[in-house]
Amino acid sequence: MKTNKTPLGFFPTPLHELKHFGRAFPSYRVFIKRDDHTGLASGGNKTRKLEYLLGDALAQGADTVITGGAQQSNHCRQTAAACAATGLKCHLLLGGEEPLRPEGNLLLSKMLGATIHYGGEKRKGEDMDMLAEDLRRRGHRPYVIPYGGSNAVGAMGYLEASAELMKQLREAGLKMDYIYFATSSGGMQAGLTLGRAIYGLSARLMPVQIDKAESGGMSLEQNVRRIAEEGLQVLQQAGQLSPEEALRFQGEATGTLKGYDEAGYARMSQEEKQAILGLARTEGILLDPVYTARAFYAMTDHLNRKIPEAGSHVLFWHTGGLPANFSSNYNFF
Ligand SMILES: *Cc1c(COP(=O)(O)O)cnc(C)c1O
Repeated sequence: MKTNKTPLGFFPTPLHELKHFGRAFPSYRVFIKRDDHTGLASGGNKTRKLEYLLGDALAQGADTVITGGAQQSNHCRQTAAACAATGLKCHLLLGGEEPLRPEGNLLLSKMLGATIHYGGEKRKGEDMDMLAEDLRRRGHRPYVIPYGGSNAVGAMGYLEASAELMKQLREAGLKMDYIYFATSSGGMQAGLTLGRAIYGLSARLMPVQIDKAESGGMSLEQNVRRIAEEGLQVLQQAGQLSPEEALRFQGEATGTLKGYDEAGYARMSQEEKQAILGLARTEGILLDPVYTARAFYAMTDHLNRKIPEAGSHVLFWHTGGLPANFSSNYNFF
């Protein structure tokens, strides 16, 4: 890809079968892709996006990065780590009030040297442009990364991840029929959707919607389409895509699996807690209470209801989030 990229993680991430967990579902084979092991200060799916976003920031001569999210944002923690690793200053706009004792991702973001601004009700970085203006006036060169790192540049990380997965499958002589993953700000979904259209990744995408709330006045589906269409333009401008290849995207679905988000964003349901403990105790793999528990529960529910055809190979794409388990918002015991 001709777009700028700065290496931040360790790739390819492992792909392996969930042999013990899978015993409960004899008509399927269940696999996992470990983007919880991307390596950037406890890993996660934002690392792939940040390789392109920080590549772009550095190419533009930025000295500061601004982004925003919830107080337990994995995206913000990985951005803080990526900035530390590339010598950029990092400002984070986080929801809520300053706690007496920082926990989980917030603790790590502070350890990684980020400057934190607390936004109360605003948990999607609503005031980032204002902060950028302010920093510019004071002589800095800020680069604003949108909520979740989800734009055309960030999505390139998951276009590349599609190719990475296809290569791993080819080498292992495997084929996946379904890919379940958590979708929230839509950048990962947009990248994988582009990967299906451009590289011919054949698995059906099963994006589990985590957050019902709109973002920037648009539904998640609208955001996914917008990000993917902008991604197509970026690739065409870079001479990486023919008009015929771009056309293939038009038929791609961008729908999400709904109905698993009823507990509300960042609220762990009983089923989600059981999903975390279940996978921990059958495979020694830790999910997170905001994203991956919800997506993993949704996949398990589909397998129980036999929604994928018998004999299917099903992949769970683990997107990280470990530190949120250490927030006292979540009561496991
Ligand atoms: C951000 C995040 C997601 C969702 O990815 P988007 O690209 O924002 O849709 C899923 N899982 C975890 C752990 C995340 O931090």
